[in-house]
Amino acid sequence: MPANLHHRIVIVGGGTAGLTVAARLARQLGRPDIALIEPSDRHYYQPLWTLVGAGVFPKEASERNQADFIPTGVTWLRDAVAELRPDENLVVTREGRTVGYDFLVVAPGIQVDWDAIEGLKGNVGSHGICSNYDHAGQVRRGAPEDHVPGRRPFPQLGRPGRVSGGLRLGDRLDLRGGAVRPDA
Ligand SMILES: Cc1cc2nc3c(=O)[nH]c(=O)nc-3n(C[C@H](O)[C@H](O)[C@H](O)COP(=O)(O)OP(=O)(O)OC[C@H]3O[C@@H](n4cnc5c(N)ncnc54)[C@H](O)[C@@H]3O)c2cc1C
Repeated sequence: MPANLHHRIVIVGGGTAGLTVAARLARQLGRPDIALIEPSDRHYYQPLWTLVGAGVFPKEASERNQADFIPTGVTWLRDAVAELRPDENLVVTREGRTVGYDFLVVAPGIQVDWDAIEGLKGNVGSHGICSNYDHAGQVRRGAPEDHVPGRRPFPQLGRPGRVSGGLRLGDRLDLRGGAVRPDA
């Protein structure tokens, strides 16, 4: 399949990783020909979410305009990659573009598997269920939702995972506030 666009470097995902790589390459290359493919016009600074849950910041403080973070000289394609075709050095987007590249950086983040806990999918952010893994599911500590009685699972992965420290912080804060029962 012939590509209808071509860039020397294509970066998939404009989160912390994709933007950081784009910024460093743009700074180091004289005339960068970099395309960043990112569907969202919002950028979320996830590390702040630990402090949203702890009641230090409102969740809105973690949300920025994506456009403000696209490095100078980098072309932003507001689209999502639907298919990688490494044999042809191209990606196919959700809107049907084919984008060829010489070098590809893949940084689409991770997919949170809400289904892994029964009843979670579709309910995070309502019914007193919150999570600091999701912007919509953030509840600031001290909010009315914080006082809904019930069990609070703090899953701890049996393998390295992101923000286990954050979970421990949440755990400690809850213990300090007396919100976690010993059997919770
Ligand atoms: C509560 C919390 C606290 C944290 N605290 C820390 C900390 O203290 N220190 C630290 O180093 N890290 C921390 N982290 C981890 C850090 O935030 C993440 O590792 C980092 O945000 C991951 O960046 P990323 O670019 O890989 O993914 P993301 O920031 O998730 O970005 C992925 C991007 O890819 C886009 N995308 C997805 N699919 C596609 C597609 N098909 N095509 C194009 N684009 C796509 C998405 O729209 C998104 O913008 C924390 C995370 C959380 C949740």
